[in-house]
Amino acid sequence: MRTHTRFQTVLAVVAALVFPAFLSAQVKIYIMTDLEGVSGVYKFAQTREKDTPLNLQACEYFMQDLAAVVRGLRDGGATEVLVVDGHGSQAIIPHMMAPGAKYATGRPKPGIGLWGLDASFTGMVQFGAHAMMGTPDGVLNHTQSSIPENRYWYNGIESGELAQCALIAGHFGVPTVLVTGDEAACREATKFFGPACVTVAVKRGISREAAVLYPFEESRKALYEGARKAVAAIPQCKPYVLKLPIEAKMQYLDPKSGLPQPRLITREWTIPDALHLLESR
Ligand SMILES: [Zn+2]
Repeated sequence: MRTHTRFQTVLAVVAALVFPAFLSAQVKIYIMTDLEGVSGVYKFAQTREKDTPLNLQACEYFMQDLAAVVRGLRDGGATEVLVVDGHGSQAIIPHMMAPGAKYATGRPKPGIGLWGLDASFTGMVQFGAHAMMGTPDGVLNHTQSSIPENRYWYNGIESGELAQCALIAGHFGVPTVLVTGDEAACREATKFFGPACVTVAVKRGISREAAVLYPFEESRKALYEGARKAVAAIPQCKPYVLKLPIEAKMQYLDPKSGLPQPRLITREWTIPDALHLLESR
């Protein structure tokens, strides 16, 4: 009896010490979104021009994929979710917002780095991502700007938007915990962020504007499960960082030089830290 009582006391003390801390632990997730890597999107006619019938339909696909991710994150234990509309022409449709998150949209969103991102976040999700410029099986592959075919290197490592966003998050010690997109974007994510980062593919690229699409119902189930899993995987995920200062190189096709072969321009510069990564591009 005595032992039992003492055991109960110890349990009560441990619970009092551990559980309040556990219960009050905030799991804040930042979702950076893009449009090219969502279900059913495979041609630039869906992503480049705003508010066309094709674009509006793509934005609906985006919102339905996004809802699955938000639900999965919340069910997985996320206490706060901020979604930031990252696609150039913006993609959030207000009447389709799933509960359990806040949604930042419209342009411009001033400031350096990524709007609203700081060290208070526990993890970053890169939603609707695409592979870097030049990836043969990357659906709608590009880096920042698709028409001049921009390419970027940081400390000699060719990097796409996945690495760029992860570097900015890494500046704040925030790891990338989930990447959704096509198979090529998922492969790129694993290469840069390691196997702990959860990936969910919603299609497989055949070429830049051709893809094997996965059915919406199956993709959204996988997105929900992936998001749940990603919250649990946060302790294993590491922020993506590079040695500072970062030596940057960029190549692009000069829009002013004509056909048949536009002139290739190379720029090189030094970036003090990853927060300023996209400032002088
Ligand atoms: Zn993009």
